[in-house]
Amino acid sequence: MLKGKTALVTGSTSGIGLGIALALARDGANVMLNGFGDVDSAKRAVAERGVRVSYHGADMSKPAEIEAMVRACEQEFGALDILVNNAGIQHVAKVEDFPPERWDAIIAINLSSAFHTTRLALPGMKKRNWGRIVNVASTHGLVASAEKSAYVASKHGIVGFTKSVALETAITGVTCNAICPGWVLTPLVQKQVDARAQQAGVSESEAKRQLLQEKQPSLQFTTPEQLGALAVFLCSPAGDNVRGVAWNVDGGWAAQ
Ligand code: NAD
Repeated sequence: MLKGKTALVTGSTSGIGLGIALALARDGANVMLNGFGDVDSAKRAVAERGVRVSYHGADMSKPAEIEAMVRACEQEFGALDILVNNAGIQHVAKVEDFPPERWDAIIAINLSSAFHTTRLALPGMKKRNWGRIVNVASTHGLVASAEKSAYVASKHGIVGFTKSVALETAITGVTCNAICPGWVLTPLVQKQVDARAQQAGVSESEAKRQLLQEKQPSLQFTTPEQLGALAVFLCSPAGDNVRGVAWNVDGGWAAQ
């Protein structure tokens, strides 16, 4: 279905971004990956789906590097059709203890980077009258938790940004939507599991159980594969008129 389209997925060397990149590739899209860490395994996994794969190491806190990445994608593949703004980081601390440089980094990577990729990708999408922008927000884009002020602010911000872009593109073939996962067991959440296990002196599996029980009524982690399938749906013709939504995949977290 997505054969001939090109997807740029930020923060796609692990976790949710990689899950979405793999799902789009399975549907035929060529992929430009981005992020740090084990780039080769991610590239190999996407290439196994029989599509063209490329990588750009832009640091998503640096607007000049983001611009270079978008230009490189357009040059290498001829177009950027599907933009998945996924790169994100977390820091957990009370507001009065929150390091200002961590606040700035979270806002830059989780929120401002999506503004930069979107402003750069939109002219080409509008010209071709087809495009998909999928912003990976969070249940924390809809409700808050203590000690995550920067993350919650960035995720509420990206949900608002999604709605504005959806309105500005409403009469075009470009759509913009947000996905709001609850707990997904990725390296980002594993750090929080480990911290909880250490602080409470409990096992890793008990820490996971407590984490889910506090917030996620299904008591199950959402998976990167489930989020990939939702991204594919948003890119399908059935998603043509889905615009400006923030779609929870959170086991009932925000329903409480
Ligand atoms: P992860 O740590 O597995 O992946 C984060 C990705 O972002 C990695 O590829 C990393 O290299 C990349 N990244 C980090 N800083 C970067 C930077 N400055 N420049 C470029 N790339 C950078 O985390 P994840 O859980 O897969 O998170 C992905 C997204 O999903 C984030 O936006 C996160 O907020 C969101 N999310 C995660 C959960 C969850 O439970 N894991 C829930 C809701 C939302």
